[in-house]
Amino acid sequence: MKNLMNHSKIDMDTIFDLYNTLKRRHLDDASRQLVDELGRLLVPYIHTQQHLLRSLSHVLSVMLIDKNGTILYSDDYFSELANYENSEIEGKSFHEFLSSSADNDVFHHYWMEQEEVFDGELGFIGQEDVPFWMRTVIVPLLDEPSYIVFGMDITRQKQGEARQLEKAHSDYSRTVQSLVNLVFKVKRIEKGVFQYTLFEGKLAEDIGLTTDVVQGQTLEDLYGHSKAQFYQNKYERGFQGEVLSYKHNYNGRYFYTTLSPIHQGERVVEVIGSSIEITSYQEAEHRIQHMASHDPLTDLPNRNKLQEDLPVLMEKYDKVSLMFCNLDRFKYINDAMGYIAGDQVIKLMGERIESVIENGDRVYRLGGDEFIVCLLNDQSSEELTRQGHYILQKIVQPIHIMGKEIFMTARIGTARYPVDCSTADELINCANISMQYCKRNGRHNFLFYTPNMNEYHDYQISMEGNLREAISRNELCLHYQPKVNVETGFISGMEALVRWEHAEKGFISPGEFIPLAEETGLITQLDEWVLQEACRQNQQWIDAGYAPERVAVNVSANEIQQTDFAEKVKKVLDETGLDPKYLEIEVTENSVMQNTDQCIRTMQDLKALGVSLSIDDFGTGYSSLSYLRKFPIHYLKIDQAFIKGVDHDPSDSEIVKVMIQLADAFKLQVVAEGVENEEVLQFLRENHCSYYQGYYFSKPLPPEEMEQYLTKKQTYS
Ligand code: C2E
Ligand code: MG
Ligand code: MG
Repeated sequence: MKNLMNHSKIDMDTIFDLYNTLKRRHLDDASRQLVDELGRLLVPYIHTQQHLLRSLSHVLSVMLIDKNGTILYSDDYFSELANYENSEIEGKSFHEFLSSSADNDVFHHYWMEQEEVFDGELGFIGQEDVPFWMRTVIVPLLDEPSYIVFGMDITRQKQGEARQLEKAHSDYSRTVQSLVNLVFKVKRIEKGVFQYTLFEGKLAEDIGLTTDVVQGQTLEDLYGHSKAQFYQNKYERGFQGEVLSYKHNYNGRYFYTTLSPIHQGERVVEVIGSSIEITSYQEAEHRIQHMASHDPLTDLPNRNKLQEDLPVLMEKYDKVSLMFCNLDRFKYINDAMGYIAGDQVIKLMGERIESVIENGDRVYRLGGDEFIVCLLNDQSSEELTRQGHYILQKIVQPIHIMGKEIFMTARIGTARYPVDCSTADELINCANISMQYCKRNGRHNFLFYTPNMNEYHDYQISMEGNLREAISRNELCLHYQPKVNVETGFISGMEALVRWEHAEKGFISPGEFIPLAEETGLITQLDEWVLQEACRQNQQWIDAGYAPERVAVNVSANEIQQTDFAEKVKKVLDETGLDPKYLEIEVTENSVMQNTDQCIRTMQDLKALGVSLSIDDFGTGYSSLSYLRKFPIHYLKIDQAFIKGVDHDPSDSEIVKVMIQLADAFKLQVVAEGVENEEVLQFLRENHCSYYQGYYFSKPLPPEEMEQYLTKKQTYS
């Protein structure tokens, strides 16, 4: 204690010693009185102070350290806490007893700065590294280069606090870890460089990115260069103080993340992010987008998508070609075999067209039986033609559906940008026009757009209206072409062929308006009229005394497929009074192949009526003769395309020979169409073909001219 008092600002012992000395001296009364007075004041003060210090040492530690921190005096309070003898403490550095706890940094700072008074909580290390804590007040002593240190044990309180903190921390960790979503914290190491300090939640575990995994990693380590830049940009904005939300994906999953900056004063010290998974929403959104731009049946991009894509593609590529592909007579598949079969055919056609196209090129389904092939490569006309024909070849492969084998044909019109047009709409339109134009050349062909096709297109449109009127205005008439017996040269029946005498345009070929009538449905009316007129005319000739001949009437595919067709024929026969044996129905090979069951039923009904049946244009379709045996037919008319070649093309003559032989084996009579010269007729004779038709004998003739042959026939017989 004396030691301590020696260092106090007022050296009380010295004053006390001075007082004792004065007391023992002989003094005058006045001085004695003064000394006694001083004694009265000093004695209780000294006692109080000594008592106070003694009492203090029970609740406080009092120490003295010099300006270097060396402990000059330490009391029992501190030595008990540190579990050292006082002598082991004094002379050592105060700093040696301090622990490395973070709070002590404040003291070290104070010590360096030598500020007025230190008041803080310091951590100490005692014997065997046992830690203890003291609330510590350090007061610099006046005039003395030393400090008085008051300390109060707060170890228990500190340990309690630490326990609380630990508990709170583990509670917090448990909470964030059990969050369904994802929470993360980002700190900025430097501009543009970020690291995660927290990455928790069930979602974090689910995607395999947790605090342990992400800590110390850069964004590039975690996401790769380009993705890292995306996140870097977002976090940078967060550190600018912006609250922002964005969508992003990671490993094929989609997330929606919101970033909130955490401020300390003006500065953003960290950014907290929370993410939820939106994969299923995103997928639904993608599905909706896909549905809007794709055809559900084929899953090919649709018209909307073409209209959206085409201007972009035309901007990007110097040359773009469009092939407009339309299936021939698809309507009949739907009508005759039903929509399910129709759908299957469309799907298959889509797949076949798609299988042909090359990298980068695209196939769209415009609807119905229309497809568009968009070619982006700079291809020559020859290459495009080759590709177009390759598509046609694919389309025509046999289709097995509902236990049947059918064949589809198609027309492909091609337009090229920038050769033919300058805008996307024009390109589609030009391709469409050239496809329409293909009809002029019959089915299953490929054409490039040329400007003169526009006129044809306009003409087609006006024709439709004209045709409707033609039927009602009786502008149609029939011509008759004799059918001749090859061996005898006598006529054996005739074919009725429709003609249209247009008031302004003159004669219009059936090759032009029959396909139009089929497309518009006018064919039903037209075929009914032809049947009625042919029967009427034939009966009229019979009534007039001509030798009866059989008249052949051409019937379109959809007519023969009507369940009531045989009934209609019977009605006409009844009305006109024509004997059924003087009527023949011609059906093309392709039309009977479309709905074979119904065709067979109708044909059987017709046969039962006594009407003859023939297959027209044989060889242009893709059916085999053995397949045609199923049909109750009498005649097979070989298409003129083969007949015309028999005198100069060895392959045509071979084909025709085989056709005649096979037909003979199946007991069918063969009619050769389009005989134009003696050589062909000679060939037919040599090969035992039964009948022929052709310009060599006669062109189709108006009724009054046909009568000459009928009369002649009478003379021959
Ligand atoms: P198709 O039934 O095969 O008729 C034969 C076609 O060949 C006729 O053409 C006829 O004029 C033509 N032809 C006959 N002999 C020769 C020849 O020696 N040389 C050449 N180059 N041609 C010859 P047309 O009258 O123009 O009829 C074309 C097609 O239109 C017919 O082919 C038929 O499929 C269809 N058609 C004609 N009339 C009708 C009809 O009343 N109803 C239906 N549904 N189709 C018809
Ligand atoms: Mg015919
Ligand atoms: Mg024919």
